[in-house]
Amino acid sequence: MSMKLTFWGAARTVTGSMHQLDFQGETYLLDCGLFQGRRQEAFQRNRELPVHAKNVRAVLLSHAHIDHSGNLPNLVRNGFSGPIFTSPATADLSETMLLDSAFIQQKDAEFINRRNKRRRSVMEELGDSHEVEALYTVEDAEATVPLFHSVLPHCPHEVGPHLTYETVNAGHMLGSTSMVLSGRGLRLGFSGDIGRVGLPIIADPEPLPPVDYLIMESTYGDRFHEEQGNVKQKLADVITRTAARGGKIIAPSFAVGRTQQLVLLIHELIREGRIPSIPIFVDSPLAVNATDVFRRHLYLYDDETRTFLREGVDPFGFKRLVYVREVEKSKALNDLRGPFMVISASGMCEAGRVLHHLRNNIGDPRNTVLITGFQAENTLGRKLQEGWTEVPIWGEPYPRRCEVEVITELSGHADQGELLKWLEPVAPTLKKLFLVHGEYPAQQALKAAIQARYAIEVEIPTRGEAFTLA
Ligand SMILES: [Zn+2]
Repeated sequence: MSMKLTFWGAARTVTGSMHQLDFQGETYLLDCGLFQGRRQEAFQRNRELPVHAKNVRAVLLSHAHIDHSGNLPNLVRNGFSGPIFTSPATADLSETMLLDSAFIQQKDAEFINRRNKRRRSVMEELGDSHEVEALYTVEDAEATVPLFHSVLPHCPHEVGPHLTYETVNAGHMLGSTSMVLSGRGLRLGFSGDIGRVGLPIIADPEPLPPVDYLIMESTYGDRFHEEQGNVKQKLADVITRTAARGGKIIAPSFAVGRTQQLVLLIHELIREGRIPSIPIFVDSPLAVNATDVFRRHLYLYDDETRTFLREGVDPFGFKRLVYVREVEKSKALNDLRGPFMVISASGMCEAGRVLHHLRNNIGDPRNTVLITGFQAENTLGRKLQEGWTEVPIWGEPYPRRCEVEVITELSGHADQGELLKWLEPVAPTLKKLFLVHGEYPAQQALKAAIQARYAIEVEIPTRGEAFTLA
């Protein structure tokens, strides 16, 4: 009896997580995420599913981040009818996230079409009249929501003939899991994204039970994070410095997870009197909704946050913090004079309201773009991180004169040392390890480090590569 594993996304890259498992005549997908990168390539890659959606028996979703969950509505649009197994918090978060993702895609497509139309009328018809189409619609996302099936961590659950699914907390974001799929004496592990010990808000990653084969992430496979102790001081410095210039701080951020983490740290800094009291705007309807979900899943928090809560403090609310839901209020921020801070999505600056804030503010040297998350290749966020002095936004060049500050310590991903440690309890039984969710140089570095420490066969699969597990 064997399993067949095919890698379709996050193969030698960090986005578009999707792996196909064939077992006992049934097809399963582990994650079904959005690929992000060059606009045209990303669109095609996401649209053209490598599997027949109707033939997929079930999806097993590691966590709610859009690069793991974001292509589910497209799968449903193409005939998938569920179920999607995941943790209760992930199911809860995915509902808001997928609706938001659909809305953003429709809005972005409309914006580009409107602009192209305007330009054509000025520059004459150029013969290129095709309209940009949204990858999926709000209706597709709405049809996806009822397919979620919550399974609590540590509770084995049958997801198909002779196939059992069991999860542990991955400590990467609220509701994130690592999973084990077992059937007919074979055990396949999938790490999902692995978090870090001591990250603010959420509990630490749990060890995975023994498995024969393992798919493991490798985002920071070639790096060691700086001590987290410095992060608050760095954050305090950048806010103080920019406020002194009368500037605005634009913080592109995953609406779910990173935004709440930033809010919590800023709240602590304000309570400790370490930053000037400037307005902080969380400008993302998704972040607003997701923060409500964070409030509902208190059992997943770490001790520090629970203590905060027990004192009767709302960790996600304070006087100078304003959650912006309405688009008019978001637009009004353009005319507001600094200093203030805007936390807005998307985290890699590929879509959403943050693009408007960047377009309006990166030309002003008083302002700061604050990058706190991983920026994938070819994304606008990566270009800003690399210090480009001119960047494309919606296909148009914009000069960048503002400061760019990068804080890597908040990363929700384990670094090389932490990955090696996470692997330790699993290593003795492993027949083969597949590295995914990393850029190739990081993966090669991690492979070398793993093999220096454990006697494990390590593969770095390419997109479309398949393996038989027996
Ligand atoms: Zn993630």
